[in-house]
Amino acid sequence: MNYISEINRLRREKNAVIMAHYYQTGDIQDIADFVGDSLALAQEAEKTTADIIVLCGVHFMGETAKILNPAKKVLIPDTLAGCSLADSCLADKFGEFTAQHPDYTVVTYVNTTAAVKALSDICVTSTNAKKIIEQLPAEEKIIFAPDKNLGDYINSTTGRNMLLWNGACHVHEQFSLEKLLTLKAEYPNAEVLAHPECKKHVLLAADFIGSTQALLNYSAKSDKTQFLVATESGILHQMQKQSPHKEFIPVPPNDSTCACNECNFMRLNTLEKLYLCLKNETPEILIDEQIRQKAVKPILRMLELSK
Ligand code: SF4
Repeated sequence: MNYISEINRLRREKNAVIMAHYYQTGDIQDIADFVGDSLALAQEAEKTTADIIVLCGVHFMGETAKILNPAKKVLIPDTLAGCSLADSCLADKFGEFTAQHPDYTVVTYVNTTAAVKALSDICVTSTNAKKIIEQLPAEEKIIFAPDKNLGDYINSTTGRNMLLWNGACHVHEQFSLEKLLTLKAEYPNAEVLAHPECKKHVLLAADFIGSTQALLNYSAKSDKTQFLVATESGILHQMQKQSPHKEFIPVPPNDSTCACNECNFMRLNTLEKLYLCLKNETPEILIDEQIRQKAVKPILRMLELSK
């Protein structure tokens, strides 16, 4: 079976668009019609004219596409592709928390379930979080969820005192400062690039902190030729494609002998599953319409405030 030619045939026949997150494996990124971070995927989902969207990423990304496109069929290659960060903020507990703070504006990272988005006033991604928070009045009380590291980073860069939910991404929490410092000694001219979901001690060792998209853009423009990258290692594929003459070294996690840090959820998607999902038009993302109508408001507000 030649999955690539079959996927190409099926997407033409079915007017399907394949969108892939930067943390997908290189073969999936290469076959996608569009590759981007969470914000770019949401923006692209908002404007697509395809009948079917295949979202190669994790479940909440498929939900975001479906929330924005209720009339379209949204598929994901593997329903088990979840997210530890989204799982760290369950809607019932989060609902209790927001009910205890009725005078707070609820800002949630897009890495949440549709049910949590339905409890939110504004969604953000790591690309636009700072820009959106800075547009809110200085005296506004804000709850930020679920990523405590990103929230802490935004508090420190904006001077806000947002109330933070205690959630985290198991991939970004795992980067080893000790191994990073060893790599820095080995590559003294390399710049350290880190995602703001990393713990503070890793961010303090970074030369540049930014979203996946920002790290990619920075690495392409920088005069440096070596980079130590502290985010999910799938982004190295695009970094290397954009800057073939530069060297990208993934920062390893704490608890393994592996040289890089991969999201096991993102890696569940394969070309074979993508082919089967296009062929059988399943698994499909379905969302309760009442929840969808509430969840679409904070996403649309995010898209408006990101312009
Ligand atoms: S890298 Fe972290 S935040 Fe992204 S999908 Fe995986 S678990 Fe979720």
